[in-house]
Amino acid sequence: SKTNDSLMQRRHAAVARGVSQIHPIFVQRAENATVWDVEGRQYIDFAGGIAVLNTGHRHPKVMEAVKRQMEQFTHTCFQVLAYEPYVELCEKLNTLVPGDFAKKTLLVTTGSEALENAVKIARAATGRAGVIAFTGGYHGRTMMTLSMNGKVSPYSAGMGLMPGGVYRAQFPCPLHGVSDDDAIASIERIFKNDAEPRDIAAIVIEPVQGEGGFYVASQAFMKKLRELCDLHGIVLVADEVQSGAGRTGTFFAMEQMGVAPDLTTFAKSIAGGFPVAGVCGRAEMMDAIAPGGLGGTYAGNPLACAAALAVIEVFEEENLLARSNTLGEMIMGRLRDIAAQDKRIGDVRGLGAMVACELFTSECRPDAELAAKVVALARDKGLILLSCGQYGNVIRILVPLTASDMEVQAGMDIIAACFAELAG
Ligand code: PMP
Repeated sequence: SKTNDSLMQRRHAAVARGVSQIHPIFVQRAENATVWDVEGRQYIDFAGGIAVLNTGHRHPKVMEAVKRQMEQFTHTCFQVLAYEPYVELCEKLNTLVPGDFAKKTLLVTTGSEALENAVKIARAATGRAGVIAFTGGYHGRTMMTLSMNGKVSPYSAGMGLMPGGVYRAQFPCPLHGVSDDDAIASIERIFKNDAEPRDIAAIVIEPVQGEGGFYVASQAFMKKLRELCDLHGIVLVADEVQSGAGRTGTFFAMEQMGVAPDLTTFAKSIAGGFPVAGVCGRAEMMDAIAPGGLGGTYAGNPLACAAALAVIEVFEEENLLARSNTLGEMIMGRLRDIAAQDKRIGDVRGLGAMVACELFTSECRPDAELAAKVVALARDKGLILLSCGQYGNVIRILVPLTASDMEVQAGMDIIAACFAELAG
């Protein structure tokens, strides 16, 4: 029978080296917050396929909706023959995305594509080409999003320069010495040194950075950013690909920021394991691009639309936004307990259930080595974890919001055991 080792060998021979793999595991089956590998070993899943499974693996309601759609048709291409689930999902998102104004929505397939299209829309709406993005930001693996990522290695290393016209501002992160004022000053510096405001189409920001380390932007900072955008006619784009779909205790993190973005990108957990993503925002901006300028063969795939509509229903039926907040408190409480005994955990933070802890050496240097050790040891003990952060020293938790208290506590017990075992 198949083993992780034998499949790993085939993988190395057949799959491009640039596709990395965090855990040397091949999955056989998954259910809610549990996965089983090909050798029958069982794991608690705190990774959720990188923030895709807020409603868990194979949520019954999602499975049912996809099956029903599969019995009808699986593909027509929306631009050729349209279908109601696409329209209904856009209608739903127009009401769920923050912003007290008329909205329209575009559906695509991946988060990267959503960001590409947000920039296209901002360019068409403003007649400008420049983009401001942030240190530590992550927006995807296509050429334009690689320009926007605030981290070169590994994402664009060895590939030469990426498309121009992207300017880097500092993401506010007091833990690493960047105040809100410093971050705003870094934008003013761009206006002074690099590009006039009237050449900037969009400022693109994750309200809670994902890959960059789960840093939460403050309300005050977002308000200043909004004011700056209004002053200069710049489109504010909130990338909610990782923070959206209920992770932070509201359906979108921007609901907690006191101001609305002009455009919002979404993907990942919106469809509970099926590939749909998109851009939602001001109707007049969304309409800036002429017919034919937006779309894609698989964009807004009917199976994925059916899944997303079911996910939105599940959030209401199972009260998952409240659950996101209680889970977040529970997880942060456990992490704070561990941190109280362990100086290597220098920070515990989060918004709703988007929770992380950051690890440092005794010299207060980011400790990526320890993060990697915790992730590996936790896996050996039956827990799938992910690290993140500009320095790779952050442990992030993306457990399904549908996981039981017992499963979450069992996962937290493993994390506590890992820190204890790796002490000294
Ligand atoms: N934006 C953010 C904030 C993300 O976290 C990601 C994926 N990690 C992306 C964009 C890109 O999404 P995808 O991998 O679906 O292209």
